[in-house]
Amino acid sequence: MSTLRFFAIKETLNRTPLKISETKRRSELFGANVYNKAKMQQTLTKDAFESVTSAIEKGTKIDRSVANQIASSMKDWALSKGVTHYTHWFQPLTGATAEKHDAFFETMGEGQAIERFGGSQLVQQEPDASSFPHGGIRNTFEARGYTAWDPTSPAFIYGTTLCIPTVFVSYTGEALDYKTPLLRALQAIDTAAVAVCKYFDKNVKKVNASLGWEQEYFLIDSALVSSRPDILLTGRTLLGHASAKGQQLDDHYFGTIPNRAMAYMRDLETECMLLGIPVKTRHNEVAPNQFELAPIYEEANLAVDHNALLMDVMDKIAERHNFKVLFHEKPFKGINGSGKHNNWSLSTDTGVNLLSPGKTPMSNLQFLTFFINTIKAVNDNEELLRATIASASNDYRLGANEAPPAIMSVFIGDQLTKVLNELENVTTGKLSPKEKTDLKLNVVGKIPEILLDNTDRNRTSPFAFTGNKFEFRAVGSKANCANPMTMLNSIVAKQLIEFKAEVDALIDKKDMKKDDAVFNVLREYIKKSKTILFEGNGYGEAWEKEAKKRGLSNNKNTPEALQVKTSKKAIALYEELGVMNAVEIQARYEIEMEEYIMRVQIEGRVLGDIARNHVVPTAIKYQNVLIENVKGLKEIYEKDFKKVAKAQLDLIEDISLHIVNINDMVTKMTNNRKEANLIKDVSVKAREYCEKVKPLFEDIRYHCDKLELLVDDELWPLIKYREILFTK
Ligand code: ADP
Ligand code: MG
Repeated sequence: MSTLRFFAIKETLNRTPLKISETKRRSELFGANVYNKAKMQQTLTKDAFESVTSAIEKGTKIDRSVANQIASSMKDWALSKGVTHYTHWFQPLTGATAEKHDAFFETMGEGQAIERFGGSQLVQQEPDASSFPHGGIRNTFEARGYTAWDPTSPAFIYGTTLCIPTVFVSYTGEALDYKTPLLRALQAIDTAAVAVCKYFDKNVKKVNASLGWEQEYFLIDSALVSSRPDILLTGRTLLGHASAKGQQLDDHYFGTIPNRAMAYMRDLETECMLLGIPVKTRHNEVAPNQFELAPIYEEANLAVDHNALLMDVMDKIAERHNFKVLFHEKPFKGINGSGKHNNWSLSTDTGVNLLSPGKTPMSNLQFLTFFINTIKAVNDNEELLRATIASASNDYRLGANEAPPAIMSVFIGDQLTKVLNELENVTTGKLSPKEKTDLKLNVVGKIPEILLDNTDRNRTSPFAFTGNKFEFRAVGSKANCANPMTMLNSIVAKQLIEFKAEVDALIDKKDMKKDDAVFNVLREYIKKSKTILFEGNGYGEAWEKEAKKRGLSNNKNTPEALQVKTSKKAIALYEELGVMNAVEIQARYEIEMEEYIMRVQIEGRVLGDIARNHVVPTAIKYQNVLIENVKGLKEIYEKDFKKVAKAQLDLIEDISLHIVNINDMVTKMTNNRKEANLIKDVSVKAREYCEKVKPLFEDIRYHCDKLELLVDDELWPLIKYREILFTK
């Protein structure tokens, strides 16, 4: 084994789990570092507290004097916990969270100083943020960017810093972050869903979208990672021959969590508790060293913030445990990748989950309304939804055999399929009293019972109904959930607006009763949404053919998938709902395309370097050993040497062939990259990278991996798959 590998493995084996002691119950720790409602209530005047509550619940404005009071209480609370700095915390389009710390400390002249934090600092900041992605927005208008307080997501303390969640917008008001469009989409679905709820319950005043994400990740010892430039720089292995044993025995999935990983998880969970992130579930995933963490679901904006914060916290805690967290969707070839299932539902301020069947026929009609409208929304906008989960890294996962395909479809299970089939046959126009009673008793009334024993859990569907929520499974593990959540809530909002208009029209113009009108519209929706419903194996080839026949999109890579983002349809959708305007949409498209190009570019460079600086020199070293050996054999056996040296001679030749191939293809890849770099149009450039640069990765890898098998293990410099996946 090479010295480098030897020391990395030795270091890994010598590690002991950190001792984590938990002295308090988790319920006592929960939210200790969050300036939540309870703390506001304790520290603010009644007026100020009511003003914040109304801002949180109704989106009303907070006036300056109240802002001052809140800032002052927030500061006192933070100082009492040893905090020295504050920051506006936001999510620019880099995919990472951003912060710029300022001390509370201010001088007052004459050698005096004070801790100060006023309403204006709480409410708005102007970070010098010209290097954040802006897709041209800031060049054309103003260079400045502003962060503005989002009171719906509470401030929290991380380390010695008070973090205030904010939106990030340009001088002219265009969104430069993930949060701004998400908040606008959540507003849209609130309004649209409340209007529809009124058919069933006049008391509903607010509808919240809920999100419960499931975060998958790999945990790898940092010493092992350090010996792999590909993981260090791209988050995934660009080469590496498969380990003889991988995940085929399924002996990791749901198995006992390894000690070091367990210590890490407990440490992480404690931090999550303090930060008010309600993490609840942990388990081993399918691949070796792969795990999952899931919280109790929350209001979508908060859940998105919590997931972004969590990923940051996971990285930091991992350092303490000498681990590196891999969030990449496909860090290792041939074994499962990671996703981030987005569990989504809608709930009212009266405490009803609109996607959970209720106890009465009336509440079930409400359930069916939201259920069918969601299906219709996905049916009509499948390609837009697909675009929100496109990224260079998720391209390696989607469509791979353990991951959802790039084709969107909705799974609802046998029982609900039957319900929809029956509803499809209701009479056009007014329903007879008998039909209505029949429907209520035998179809709508029976749903809760049906669902209880509906254990049908199709795991291959990218968008599955799972009893009281939809689960969007194609989201990448590295992604910010805001993108898919903004789209999902927007398409459902638009759909609900249309639904309301159609039902109202039937009531007003056709003089129908409300229930009749609802049944009539839903019946048509069921007929129109058949394309998207699919109960079979989503991983199979047969589905790909069938989906094509149905006219569903199958955009297999990011440059293809993103095209639809700037379509007339997408712009109309977002403009109508006030989620984003054409400028913002175009900017985001360019940012995402550019990010794609850069990711592929970096991978290409890293692979070229590793192939030329690690793999080829190592192969030559070994080839020289063989050549010396052959020379020796020739000396001993003279004319007969070819017989005894046959294996060595073959090896020498094989090695040469692989080296020639690697060299040719790295040169070709570099040239193709150079050519692509001359292209100005991002769409064309991204496609060029996708079609001309990326395919060479696999070819180069093939020959490198072959060499890994041929070359003396003693010489091989890169940590091998079996070592990275099984050293504990
Ligand atoms: P799975 O079997 O897919 O692991 P779970 O039932 O364990 O599913 O839930 C996974 C995630 O779904 C959790 O984060 C959970 O909080 C979330 N979840 C449960 N109910 C809802 C809901 N009504 N709305 C949104 N998310 C939910
Ligand atoms: Mg799940």
